[in-house]
Amino acid sequence: MGYHNRSELQDLGCSSQLLLQPLWDTLRTGEAFARSPFFPVIFSIITYVGFCLPFVVLDVLCPWVPMLRRYKIHPDFSPSAKQLLPCLGQTLYQHLVFVFPVTLLHWARSPALLPPEAPEFLQLLSHVLICLLLFDTEIFAWHLLHHKVPWLYRAFHKVHHQNASSFALATQYMSVWELLSLTFFDVLNVALLQCHPLTILTFHVVNIWLSVEDHSGYDFPWSTHRLVPFGWYGGVAHHDLHHSQFNCNFAPYFTHWDKMLGTLRSSGSPELCTLHLTQEKKQT
Ligand SMILES: [Zn+2]
Ligand SMILES: [Zn+2]
Repeated sequence: MGYHNRSELQDLGCSSQLLLQPLWDTLRTGEAFARSPFFPVIFSIITYVGFCLPFVVLDVLCPWVPMLRRYKIHPDFSPSAKQLLPCLGQTLYQHLVFVFPVTLLHWARSPALLPPEAPEFLQLLSHVLICLLLFDTEIFAWHLLHHKVPWLYRAFHKVHHQNASSFALATQYMSVWELLSLTFFDVLNVALLQCHPLTILTFHVVNIWLSVEDHSGYDFPWSTHRLVPFGWYGGVAHHDLHHSQFNCNFAPYFTHWDKMLGTLRSSGSPELCTLHLTQEKKQT
C-alpha cells in the first residue's frame, strides 16, 4: 500500500513536471544568452518597462477617456513627461552603472546552470509563493526601519517618496541603496530555497508585476488585492496610502505584518485625513 502511494505520488510529480517541460525546453534553446551576465539585467529592464508601458498609455489617454478616471485612485492626477522621463532615465542608469556590475560579480563567482529537467508545477507555485512571503517580510522590516530612523529615511528612502501620487514608472524611482537592497532580498530568497531557474524567472516576473501594480495608481476590478480573499493582500490601494500618509502600510504586498504591528490602514480608516499633514511635515 505504501509502495502504491509512493508510486502514485511519483506519477503525479512526473506529470506535473511534464507540464512545464515544453516551455523549459523552448527557453533552453537560448541557453548561451540566458547564462550570460547580460541576461538578468536586460530581462529585468524589459519586463519592468513592458509592465509600465500599458499604464503610461492609460495615463496619456485618461484626459480624453473619462471612464478611465473611475479606476484612478487620484482621478485628477496624470504624470507629466517631466515626471516620467527622469524616472525612466534613473532606472536605466542605475541598472547599467550599479546592478550590472553586481550581476557580473555574482556571475563570475557562480555561473548560471540550466538543468535539462523542468521543475514540477506545484513546486514552482509553492516556491514562488514562499519567495513572495519572504520578500514581503524582508521589505517590511527594511521599510519600517527606514521610516523610523530619520537619517535613514532622509539618506536612502526619501527619494522614493518624491512622488506623493505614484505612477507606474515611479516604482523604481529610488536611491541606489534601496534598489540594491531590493535586488539583494530578491536574489537571497531564491538562493535559500535553491529554486529552479524557471522558478526564479517566474518569481522575478511576478515580483516586478506586483511592484508596478502597487505604484500604478489604478484600482481595477481585477487588481490583485481584489482577487486575493480575506483582505490578505494590500496591493495598490494600500501602497498608495503609504505614499500619501507615510506612517502606515509598510509591507509591499501582504497585510499580515502591518496588521500585527498595528500599522495597517485602508482608505476607509477615519484617522487618515488628520494624520496626513502632520506626518508629511515630520518626514520632510
Ligand atoms: Zn516608504
Ligand atoms: Zn512605493
